[in-house]
Amino acid sequence: MSHKLKVGEIQETYLTDEDIWRVLTRLLSNKAKKSATYKFGLVKSIIENLYQVNDQLEITYDQLAFSFSKIYWNLVIHHELQQGTTGSAVQNNLEEIQQKYNLPRDFSFDRLNSRTQLEIIKKVKAVMKTNVFGALYGDTKGLFYAFDHKREYLRLNKPVHIFMMKYQALIVDLVNYHMAKMIEKLNDTPNINYLLEKVESIARRGSLKPFERILITYFEQTCFYCGKSLHTRNSKTHVDHFIPWSFVQSDQIWNLVLACSQCNTSKNDKIPERSFLNNILERNKILVNETQLTENMSELITYQDKKIEMLYDYSIQNGFNEIWVP
Ligand SMILES: [Zn+2]
Repeated sequence: MSHKLKVGEIQETYLTDEDIWRVLTRLLSNKAKKSATYKFGLVKSIIENLYQVNDQLEITYDQLAFSFSKIYWNLVIHHELQQGTTGSAVQNNLEEIQQKYNLPRDFSFDRLNSRTQLEIIKKVKAVMKTNVFGALYGDTKGLFYAFDHKREYLRLNKPVHIFMMKYQALIVDLVNYHMAKMIEKLNDTPNINYLLEKVESIARRGSLKPFERILITYFEQTCFYCGKSLHTRNSKTHVDHFIPWSFVQSDQIWNLVLACSQCNTSKNDKIPERSFLNNILERNKILVNETQLTENMSELITYQDKKIEMLYDYSIQNGFNEIWVP
C-alpha cells in the first residue's frame, strides 16, 4: 500500500500537460478510491504553497500541515462537516483539541492562539505522514512529487509545478467541486447549506489584522496605491491582497499592502496596473531586510522578486485580465 511508504522518488521528469491532466482527472474522478477527503485537502495545501517553494521546489511538511490544519479545522469544527467514514484521524484529533480547551466552534483557525495552532499542526502532521503523503503519491503514480518522512519535505516535479501555476484557477475550482460533492454525500442539511461557498472559503483567514499591525510597524501609514494618508480619523485602513486572494488562495505578507477603503473597494478582485509591481518589489526589499521579521516569518525566507512577478503573469494567464488603476 502506497500510504505506508516513508519515502518516494519522482518517477518521470518529462511530462506534457496532457500527461498531467490525465493523472489529475483520474485522481479527482470517482474512479480513484477515496475513503476520505484528504487527497483534496493535500492538493489544496500544495496550491496554497506554490509560491512558497525553495529553489529545489520543496515545501516543508510544516508548511503543508499548517495549510491542511487550517482547511480541516474550518471544515470540521467551524462548519461541522464530517470528512469520511473510516479512520478519520484528522477529524478525531481536531474534535479532541476543541473539547480539551473548550474552544468556541465559531472560531476560524486563524483566531486560535499560536500555542493551540502549533499543537494542532503537530498532530495533523503525524496523521499526514501515515495517511496522506504516501497515498496521494501513489494515486498520482509518483509523477507529482517526491517526499521524505525523515527530512519532512515534499518536492514538486518541475512540470507539475509549472502546470499548477498555469491552470491554478481551474484546478482550484475542480478540486473544490469534487471535494464538495464528496462532503455532500457524508453530511446532511442544514450543515450542507451553501456547501460550495463554504468549501471555497475554508482556506481564507477570518482577519488580516495581524498583518496590518506588522505593516504599520515598518511602513508609513499611507495607501499603497493612491498615497493618501491613513492617519486621519475618518480614513479606515484596509489590508489588500496585491494579487487577489481568489487567485493566490493564501495570505503571504509579501503580497499584502495597506490601502485606503476607496482603493480597496474599487480594486476588489482586479490586478493593479503593472507599474505597481515595481513599487511592491521595492517595498518587499525593505521587508526582507528586517531581520527580526524574517526570523518569525518563513514566507520571507523563501521570498524572491521573481515569485511576485510570476504570480502577476500567471494571474493574467488564469483569466484575471481586468487591470485596475486608482
Ligand atoms: Zn487609496
